[in-house]
Amino acid sequence: MTFHGTIVWRCDDGYEDARCGPIFNERVPDRHPDAILFAESIADVQAGVRLARERGLRVGVRSGGHSWGAWGLRDGALLVDLSRLTELSLAEDGETAIVGPGVRGGLQLAPFLRQRGRAFPGGHCPRVGVSGYILQGGQGWNGRKWGWACESVVAMDVVTADGELVHASENENSDLLWAARGAGPGYFAVVVRWYLRTYPAPRFPAQANYVFPMERLDEVLRWAHDALARAGPELEPVVAAAWGGALPWFGPGEAPDGHVLVMHATALVDSQEEAVAAFAPLARGAVLEHALHRESAVPTDMDEEYAVQAVMNPEGHRYAADCIWTNATAEELAPRLRPLFEGLPTEKAFAIWYGWNPPATRPDMAFSVEANVYVAAYVVWEDAADDERWASWLTGAMRGLEPVGAGAYTGDSDFARRPERFLSDAAFERLEEIRSARDPERLFVGYLAPPGGTPNVRSG
Ligand SMILES: Cc1cc2nc3c(=O)[nH]c(=O)nc-3n(C[C@H](O)[C@H](O)[C@H](O)COP(=O)(O)OP(=O)(O)OC[C@H]3O[C@@H](n4cnc5c(N)ncnc54)[C@H](O)[C@@H]3O)c2cc1C
Repeated sequence: MTFHGTIVWRCDDGYEDARCGPIFNERVPDRHPDAILFAESIADVQAGVRLARERGLRVGVRSGGHSWGAWGLRDGALLVDLSRLTELSLAEDGETAIVGPGVRGGLQLAPFLRQRGRAFPGGHCPRVGVSGYILQGGQGWNGRKWGWACESVVAMDVVTADGELVHASENENSDLLWAARGAGPGYFAVVVRWYLRTYPAPRFPAQANYVFPMERLDEVLRWAHDALARAGPELEPVVAAAWGGALPWFGPGEAPDGHVLVMHATALVDSQEEAVAAFAPLARGAVLEHALHRESAVPTDMDEEYAVQAVMNPEGHRYAADCIWTNATAEELAPRLRPLFEGLPTEKAFAIWYGWNPPATRPDMAFSVEANVYVAAYVVWEDAADDERWASWLTGAMRGLEPVGAGAYTGDSDFARRPERFLSDAAFERLEEIRSARDPERLFVGYLAPPGGTPNVRSG
């Protein structure tokens, strides 16, 4: 079998670099594919799928390498790495982006579109790959207005389990499109080209920032829940428990100690007036008198926003991430959030309350679990000796939220450690039916779950 790209077998020099190099999280799992194929063409992907079948290997897929758990790395598999497939163009309609699977959302797609006056609800961090991100839903910039990124997939080209290249849209192979909108790492084909709906680029991206001491958590949550209920879809409100010393608004020696509460809200609108209106729900609340810093309707730009995210998620570090959806009131949530927010065990660790308040209906798609508020936490450290300690701490802290939980988002989950419901039962069942029809021999590796368990249910 010949490839335009490179195939690296386990016995080859350079195998460890090929296995780990493209992975964002330094905490690379101890799983070893038999070979890693760096595809240079769609034909390579087809040949890789056929080679795996011939050799009795399963197929793992990697695009941007940003899944926290490096899901594509699997024993007994051929890992197809798509990072070299980075085509990028705008269709003749001037609105549909044609995007290779290896493209990075903030680093490549966003600036390409911005230069053409367009935008896509891409991930918040610049280097996240579009493919893994879209497949699991994709919670990105202006997501409350533009929806989950997967809702903006118009069509895809896909290599199926028998190595065929097919086109999928609402009218053709629509089961493959339905599943790609939410299956995440359980997808059972390789997406080799995306056709994405884009939107006019907002002309006045704006931000609001408020900082409070951690002891104001109860009041801050009441204020945030109240604002969320009144906010328009262009407001994206996030309360983070973040290290005070890392905040840009305080001079030397003035930064608050330890972790504090930061409301960072964005509104990607077209004018200052629209920004003022979008942030208005945040402008009232008794807690505001305790703010250590406050500013609203301040212009920002996407480069600045991406830069902040890159600082929060530094490269070369070890991570554990977990999340939970909740419909709890502020009063119900506060006592359960407190141990997570107050107990963050490292300086760089952070946790978020993300006001989501989804619309009552979405298109029919695999993605099917979300709630009023998204809580996620990210522990960040450097020493491998701390791996188990901080990963277990996070699992324990998230278990404390389970009584008010309503499922999880695949993007920040670790189902091998703490399985959660991320699809409705009906969607999970339909996904399994489509998988059985499209990949009856289970060539593709599928979800990571505890041994003998299913990922789409909470354990214990
Ligand atoms: C720093 C950081 C910030 C993040 N920010 C956000 C955010 O703002 N919003 C959000 O929603 N998520 C976010 N995430 C989560 C991220 O979107 C997911 O982890 C996503 O899976 C990453 O996609 P990837 O292609 O980079 O990852 P990969 O690890 O390459 O892929 C993940 C999995 O997706 C599947 N897959 C990937 N490409 C293909 C393909 N072409 N065909 C078939 N299957 C494929 C495979 O199963 C693969 O194992 C963030 C993650 C990190 C590390």
